[in-house]
Amino acid sequence: MKIGILALQGDFELHGRMLSTLSVDVAYIRKPDQLNSCNGLIIPGGESTTLTKLMRGAGLFDPIVSFAKNNPVFGTCAGLIVLATDLVNYNLDTLGLIDLSVERNAYGRQIDSFIDSVEFCIDGKTDFFEGVFIRAPKIVTIGENVKVLGTHDDNMVLVESEQVFVATFHPELTDDVRIHQYFVDKIRKSR
Ligand code: GLN
Repeated sequence: MKIGILALQGDFELHGRMLSTLSVDVAYIRKPDQLNSCNGLIIPGGESTTLTKLMRGAGLFDPIVSFAKNNPVFGTCAGLIVLATDLVNYNLDTLGLIDLSVERNAYGRQIDSFIDSVEFCIDGKTDFFEGVFIRAPKIVTIGENVKVLGTHDDNMVLVESEQVFVATFHPELTDDVRIHQYFVDKIRKSR
C-alpha cells in the first residue's frame, strides 16, 4: 500500500513520519501524475485559502476530486476545510468531497490553540485521544451519509463518510498512531 500526502504547504512531513511508523509507503504529492501509484491521500493542516490556491496552481484540484471517487482521503484541520462541501461565513472554492459545513477559526482568538482529550468511538469501543487543536475549525452540520467518530465537549471533531475521513485536530502531532491506523484500515477495507 502507498499513501499520498499532499505536500504543497503545511505539516505534511509529520504525517509521513506517522505512516512510516505504520510501515506504509509514502508519496509526497506535488503533481497530478504522482497520485497514480497511491491507494489513499492525506490532506494536511496548514492554511485552507493558501492550500486551495496552491492546489489549483499545481493542477491538482480536479485530479484529487477524481482520485477520491475510488480511493479514501483523510484531511486534518485545514485539510478538512478544503474537503468540506460548505463553509460558514466564508467564501472558498473547496473540493466538496464530504457533506458537512464547517466554520474556520471557530474557537476564537484566546484559545485558538489548545490540547484536550477527544472521545472517540470505533467499532463500538469508546476511547480517548490527545487532540491538538490549532486555530481549529468547528464542524457545524453533517449530511446523512456522514458518521461521527469523535467528539470534544459537544463538538464533532472526527467524522467520516464512505470515502472521506476528517479531523478538526492534528493527530500527526502526537505519537499516537491509532487515528492514522484507522485510515490505513479504511483503505484496506475499500480495496
Ligand atoms: N485556521 C486554518 C485555516 O482556516 C487551519 C489551521 C490548521 O490547519 N491548523 O485554514
